[in-house]
Amino acid sequence: MAQISLTFPDGNKRDFASGVTAAEVAAAISPGLAKKAVSALVDGAPFDLQWPIEGDARIAIHTLQDEAVALELIRHDLAHIMARAVQELWPEVKVTIGPVIKDGWYYDFDRAEPFSAEDLGAIEAKMKQIINARDPVKTEVWERDAAIAFYKAKDEPFKVELVEAIPADQKIRMYWHGPWQDLCRGPHLQHTGQVPADSFKLMSVAGAYWRGDSRNKQLQRIYAVAFRNREDLKAHLTMLEEAAKRDHRRLGKEMELFHLQEEAPGMVFWHPNGWLIYRTLEDYMRRRQRGAGYQEIRTPQVVDRVLWERSGHWEAYRENMFIVEVDEDGAKEKRINALKPMNCPCHVQVYNQGLKSYRNLPLRLAEFGSCHRYESSGSMHGLMRVRGFTQDDAHIFATPDQIETECASFIALLTSVYHDLGFDRFEIKLSTRPDVRVGSDEVWDKAEGALEQAINGLGLPYQIAEGDGSFYGPKLDFKLTDAIGREWQCGTFQCDFNLPDRLGAEYVGEDGAKHTPVMLHRAILGSFERFIGIMIENYAGRLPFWLAPRQVVVAAIVSDADAYVHQVVAALKARGVRAEADVRNEKINYKVREHSVGKVPVILAIGMKEVEERTVSLRRLGDTKTETLSFDTVLDDLATAALAPDLV
Ligand SMILES: [Zn+2]
Ligand SMILES: [Zn+2]
Repeated sequence: MAQISLTFPDGNKRDFASGVTAAEVAAAISPGLAKKAVSALVDGAPFDLQWPIEGDARIAIHTLQDEAVALELIRHDLAHIMARAVQELWPEVKVTIGPVIKDGWYYDFDRAEPFSAEDLGAIEAKMKQIINARDPVKTEVWERDAAIAFYKAKDEPFKVELVEAIPADQKIRMYWHGPWQDLCRGPHLQHTGQVPADSFKLMSVAGAYWRGDSRNKQLQRIYAVAFRNREDLKAHLTMLEEAAKRDHRRLGKEMELFHLQEEAPGMVFWHPNGWLIYRTLEDYMRRRQRGAGYQEIRTPQVVDRVLWERSGHWEAYRENMFIVEVDEDGAKEKRINALKPMNCPCHVQVYNQGLKSYRNLPLRLAEFGSCHRYESSGSMHGLMRVRGFTQDDAHIFATPDQIETECASFIALLTSVYHDLGFDRFEIKLSTRPDVRVGSDEVWDKAEGALEQAINGLGLPYQIAEGDGSFYGPKLDFKLTDAIGREWQCGTFQCDFNLPDRLGAEYVGEDGAKHTPVMLHRAILGSFERFIGIMIENYAGRLPFWLAPRQVVVAAIVSDADAYVHQVVAALKARGVRAEADVRNEKINYKVREHSVGKVPVILAIGMKEVEERTVSLRRLGDTKTETLSFDTVLDDLATAALAPDLV
């Protein structure tokens, strides 16, 4: 039999017979590794321990210690184990698909009865039995027609449909977890006992259409989470509890910030308190951007489809656009417009007014651009996922040589803004050229190199996502980490070689010839709506003083103090502090409780002693103690705290 040479991660090479499995390779290294091995990486691709290796290759054997690989496998095997458990409990249930998702997996089932909480408990118990049975996982490759016949005989219509969608000449990989069979690309663990039995949990049931299409049958989707050990599962469940306590939708109600309603799904009705946060943040961003050399513009919301056709959005993005038809001047033909889903094409229109030369570049045009995108009603979530939103958008028109410095100054601005808003931890991902793309390799080399050098120049760590760039250029994504460890992708910096060319943007170069500028799309917050949602949850409603919509309540302990209360409020307001009086005939403890629910950061209580001594009793949100201080000192401190960080 032919020999093949396998290269291990440490550079060592070893010969094996062609067709050797990764499990056999692991056994040849040590019996301990054979037992602990969960999968392999062969020439960089995930590889099942049972698959034969036919030629020379690089190989790495993984155990549960390799976190990313282990989590993927555990969750994937659990999806199969859950489907098996469901069919063992209710043989009439039809199975469909069950992919791995963030933190876990889901599986869609066709069952007439809805799954109850008790059902989920029964499924979990059955899954633990299957895990404890340490059933072997087996795999075979079948002819497509044999697989179709097999699923027809088993009366699994969804599986039949899945196999029928695969080209006729393609072989089908089948997997068995003990006696239970499923169609799968693999890889899988060696046996069910490699899944930790105490580190998963079935979370919820939701409706889902077969293949995500509302014309198809509605299925039941069971969501679940899984980790490598019990501690990680516990930490995750605690984080979810903490997240529920911080839910911005609940806090939004308690703090009277905003509401959403049926008549305008995914569009925010901002109330005075919420709008104060929004405007304070917007004013701050406006100052920061002006300081960084951006010029603010404003472009139309309703734009004729002709421009969207030219920009390519009509073809590629039509499904997400809100269409506005106008019967102009009673003409027979309606004019078709769209609400802008993004600002970019409009910014090129501003750029295109008047001849530009290299001396005008870089030109930084910013807009707090109000955009609308259609999102399915099921995907919307409070402020986090909406249909109407405002981006802190800007486009920089630049020469290819300017990408690096523009990128570096953008990252510096983003870092400083995130710091001011309380986020010091963020990750950068650099996405490079995909297979299908516009622009020459030379331009891509230059742009990717510029982004990389900009990050390196700032000494920041980053990850590379090979081939993940847009077809129009490489990009950076910025993901920040909140107070309970959740990650949110907010900032972006994208090079675009396509749109300026499509829309005829030009500049006269030093050589006197016409050139197309590079367009740099960039945002720091992403959208104001979502970012405010993230901030509310990050701070659990206790926003930094300068952003708190209600900053100070001055509360009378006795009605004889009312006049002094009003004086204190007036003095605070005159120094730019958002202060209000509470002179209701209520007990002070009642007032404190109520304003704590509204997340007012400072309460100043005033009784007769304070009136006589010109002092205030200061109580901060979350503190149980009060401090009696001279009002003049408090006034100075609060006036300083009320300033945005860039104004201090
Ligand atoms: Zn599978
Ligand atoms: Zn853009």
